[in-house]
Amino acid sequence: MLLSMVAFGKTLYVGTNAEFAPFEYLEKGKVTGFDMELMNALAKEMKMDVKIENMAFDGLLPALQMKKVDVVIAGMTETPERKKAVSFTKPYFKAKQVIITKKGKDIKDFKELSGKKVGVMLGFTGDAVVSDIKGVKVQRFDATYSAVMALEKGKVDAVVADSEPAKKYIASYKDLAIASAKAEEEDYAIAVRKNDKALLDNLNKALVKVKSNGTYDALLKKYFK
Ligand code: GLN
Repeated sequence: MLLSMVAFGKTLYVGTNAEFAPFEYLEKGKVTGFDMELMNALAKEMKMDVKIENMAFDGLLPALQMKKVDVVIAGMTETPERKKAVSFTKPYFKAKQVIITKKGKDIKDFKELSGKKVGVMLGFTGDAVVSDIKGVKVQRFDATYSAVMALEKGKVDAVVADSEPAKKYIASYKDLAIASAKAEEEDYAIAVRKNDKALLDNLNKALVKVKSNGTYDALLKKYFK
């Protein structure tokens, strides 16, 4: 025990936004979730300690670039736009955008959103997906739960959000459902600064390790089954 404590010591500063259950959320004042446990497992492989910095989602990549944090893990989709600014590890999760609607008003195709008022979280990949569809009246919110509340009150016709968090959001509303429309898959990955090649390599190696030693599967089971 003492030996391993000596070996640890280098601190990895991890940026996240704890408003994205089950990936990251607050529980009794502590940031927890799939991403956080995965990050801890990766840091353990790299013999590093983790220090979580919880901040606004749109502040995450700037904080990384300004060296306030060393990595960002936040259910963040690897996009061409973001890749211009930072590097991403190998993907660690496949996600999809889904449409949340009132029950009984199914939407079978994203194109059907044309002409409708659609709530999204500003700057999320859902925003980009919806903004690409012609004729959508996009309403941008500063939190996904605000968009979901607007849907509940009938102020928007639908909300587009990431699949797993969407399931969590609708759980507290009896009259909301996830539509059957299918979106393209997205990859969640961990972001590091562009010149941080060594850290990127170590994270990728650690990812391979936790996937082969059962840790990753155990986390999938814990959070998504
Ligand atoms: N996957 C989405 C994105 O990258 C949402 C991420 C989040 O809310 N934490 O924009």
